[in-house]
Amino acid sequence: MRLVVDDRAVDVAPGATVLDAVNQLGVALPQLCKDPDRAPLGACRTCLVHVDSMRGTPAACHLPAREGMVVSTTHPEATRVRTLVLDLTRSMLTAGEGRDGFGQLGAAAERHGLSQPSWTSLHGFELDTSKSFFVLDREACILCGRCTTACDDVQQIGAIAMLGRGHAMKVGVAGDGLMSTSVCTSCGQCVATCPTGALRPKEAARPILHRTETTCPYCGVGCGISLALREDRRLAVMADDDPSNRSSEGMLCVKGRFGTGFIHARDRIVHPMVKRDGEWRRVTWDEALEAAADGLARQRGRFGALASAKATNEDGYVIQKLCRLVMATNNVDHCTRLCHSPSVEAMLVSMGSGATSNSYVDYQEAGCVMIVGADASANHPVIAVRFRRAMARGARIVVVNPKRVELCDQADLWIQQRPGTDVALFNAMARVILDEGLANLDFVRTRTEGFEEWRDSLAEFTLERAEALTGVPAADIAQAARWYARPPLGDPRRPGVTGDSGGRDPLSGSCLVWGMGVTQHTNGIHNAHSLLNLSLVTGQLGFPGSGISPLRGQNNVQGCGDVGCIPTNLPGYQHYVPDTLAKFEQAWGTRPPADAGLVVTDMVEGCLTGAVRAMYVVGENPLLSEPDLHHAEKAMAQLECLVVQDLFLHETAALGHVFLPAAAFAEKEGTFTNSERRVQRVRAALPPPGEAQPDWWIAAELGKRVARRLGANVDRQFTYGSAAEIFDELARLVPFMGGLSHARLDREGGLQWPCPSPDHPGTRYLYAETFPRGLGRFVPARQTAPAAELPDPDYPFILNTGRLLYHWHGGTITRRVEGLLELAPRLEIAVHPADARRLGVETGDPVLVASRRGELQGFAHLTEAVRPGAIFVPFVKLADSAANFLTNSAYDPSSKIPEYKVCAVRIEPVRAPTRTG
Ligand code: SF4
Ligand code: SF4
Repeated sequence: MRLVVDDRAVDVAPGATVLDAVNQLGVALPQLCKDPDRAPLGACRTCLVHVDSMRGTPAACHLPAREGMVVSTTHPEATRVRTLVLDLTRSMLTAGEGRDGFGQLGAAAERHGLSQPSWTSLHGFELDTSKSFFVLDREACILCGRCTTACDDVQQIGAIAMLGRGHAMKVGVAGDGLMSTSVCTSCGQCVATCPTGALRPKEAARPILHRTETTCPYCGVGCGISLALREDRRLAVMADDDPSNRSSEGMLCVKGRFGTGFIHARDRIVHPMVKRDGEWRRVTWDEALEAAADGLARQRGRFGALASAKATNEDGYVIQKLCRLVMATNNVDHCTRLCHSPSVEAMLVSMGSGATSNSYVDYQEAGCVMIVGADASANHPVIAVRFRRAMARGARIVVVNPKRVELCDQADLWIQQRPGTDVALFNAMARVILDEGLANLDFVRTRTEGFEEWRDSLAEFTLERAEALTGVPAADIAQAARWYARPPLGDPRRPGVTGDSGGRDPLSGSCLVWGMGVTQHTNGIHNAHSLLNLSLVTGQLGFPGSGISPLRGQNNVQGCGDVGCIPTNLPGYQHYVPDTLAKFEQAWGTRPPADAGLVVTDMVEGCLTGAVRAMYVVGENPLLSEPDLHHAEKAMAQLECLVVQDLFLHETAALGHVFLPAAAFAEKEGTFTNSERRVQRVRAALPPPGEAQPDWWIAAELGKRVARRLGANVDRQFTYGSAAEIFDELARLVPFMGGLSHARLDREGGLQWPCPSPDHPGTRYLYAETFPRGLGRFVPARQTAPAAELPDPDYPFILNTGRLLYHWHGGTITRRVEGLLELAPRLEIAVHPADARRLGVETGDPVLVASRRGELQGFAHLTEAVRPGAIFVPFVKLADSAANFLTNSAYDPSSKIPEYKVCAVRIEPVRAPTRTG
């Protein structure tokens, strides 16, 4: 359609509004209640225009554009009425400290010649400063509704609403209390959209030098973030994000929006250091690299590296190359060993690929989403929003979790199995699917193998036995099985459904999503197989709205494995077979070793046996993340040479011999790969501080020097001019990334592998036609003893561990963000009220938790979220207390993942010493 706005012709698509046409021309028309990414609310009435042949001054946001329309934004009547509306709106507000010009409203008022409002506000609202990152200042609020829409419709949280009527109307929370009393998660979506600064960051506004589009450094969701660099060279809190980012669609959580300030932490180490006579000394890069190279070269053959799932793909690629090419070992691993190694291993066996099969958008297309052992609201908050959106349009949500996580309250069905009984549960579901004729036998016949043997292995898993083992009513197990196999069809016309159903009934797909509650067990591999078998028997794979998703923890844990930081495979999960080794030999000039290397848990044990005498640890803190920390510390203290490359002198670094200061995510170029296989750009917003350098640069310099000491010259293999060059080398060697490059990602945004050629669009979901291994393989899963260590009279409770929304893993970086620490300042230990009564503790009472390996102190939090007889301790280290002092290093013999999720502990109140005298 063509229309004319202020004498200029403009073409708009059918369905556009007059405001769309105005904005397309870049005409400055006030539109205070219109979020650029949301439908118009029509609340502020400030976008008034004149239209030839129409009476009055309609609001452009609600006026459909029509062919031939002639619109004026400068017509005297439209300008007069609009100015009056702006004056009235401005008069709702009171000038005051922190209210810097009222944002978009102030700018619009100024453009309309309003220097002072004509009336005075009589409100006198109190400033709500109860949230740590932002304030709610109702004296600056125009009741436009953008914030409540952002909280309700975008984030699906519903923490704030319009309270009251008429003159008394205000933004507030349930019960009209402080913001901190609400369910607000501090995601900041409302702050980002507020047009007047009524919701604004606490940090004083400063001029912004520039913005850099990059990727969040926290979790595997991989949200796009816009880093604003202030004139004082510090990062501002995020006020903006990119709605076109396909992973986050403009959403962020509290850590992504407000949690990047750790890069400015006062205790950041920005100069190389070497430990001499037990003291750290600042040295030059040359001295530090020589010391590190010397220590590593002496221990060739007794060396292991721990790469970082927080660093870029390019960093990881150079680190594994150093290990394989220079140190002649495949002893390189990363933290996937500690979170999803059973998932990866089971998927490699059953499907031939260790990655998530689908995309986030599939959760919104699904008729059923089954979420197992994952607390997405805390660990992957933006994914949790997608689950809530699926719920809102009628998908069945089944949550399987021994702990009452936030999604349990909204789910259609919550299955609270006893810890460690997952196989019994999922095998019983499989029997229901078979017995009730819900299996997709066509899929089983044409796409799978091993069915009969697997079906026979299910004989003992009757509903009655599963109920006895798991504690879950048989009817609930059966219901979950039915919904997963054949979701009751929702309404495909409901909002949020894209209509891309791949030729099937819309919403007939089910997504199976799982987290570390499934994997961190001594039978983690069996748990993973029992889930994969469900997807195979129902054929819930390979079409929109279906698929399998292990939710990846760290921001680049997927990429770190993809680029080869695993001991079992070369980059791209390529095997140590002659042809592949020859291909790498040709590219690298040296043949990589052909034997599988040590996994991280074996490396730590190797420190005690002498099998490992030197380690290179990049961007990880194993002395917080390993189980049984006292044991791990004793082991790593034996090392002859420990080279640590990081931002902070954390627990592991303190034991080191050389410290190499690394650039943070905001100070370097590269890529991260998120949980849905999307490779996304990471861009530098500012240079690294002091002498810090990107990890790839440090690894390359180290590689050259170690090689020279060993009599080899590999300088050519480690001479890179940029991260883009490293990525190009990686893409040449890894077929599924062959079509990717920094230039293409810059042009098109993040792309999902497989993307084998430059004209390939990337892949939304895997397994549409076939599996990488040919046929999908059923693998019988065994229900072993629920745990390696069960409660007994000395240690009568079961300990469960996990993460918190406001901290990341052990807290090495989030403890350095003041606002996050304010939101979760102390270690809270979840105890069931019935147990608390017996122990004589109340919420807030100090308690001691002890296992056979160590103890910690925290504060009781009484909640029915845990079962009686179980307690929950978060992973984060606060006030010298960390859950891993308690956990058991028993591990799954196949994937080597430690049993973080179950061990026996006792808990007791800490009584204040009695004063005498
Ligand atoms: S910060 Fe997020 S959760 Fe809190 S009120 Fe704003 S939009 Fe809602
Ligand atoms: S959900 Fe994950 S990736 Fe997204 S902003 Fe939060 S921490 Fe960052």
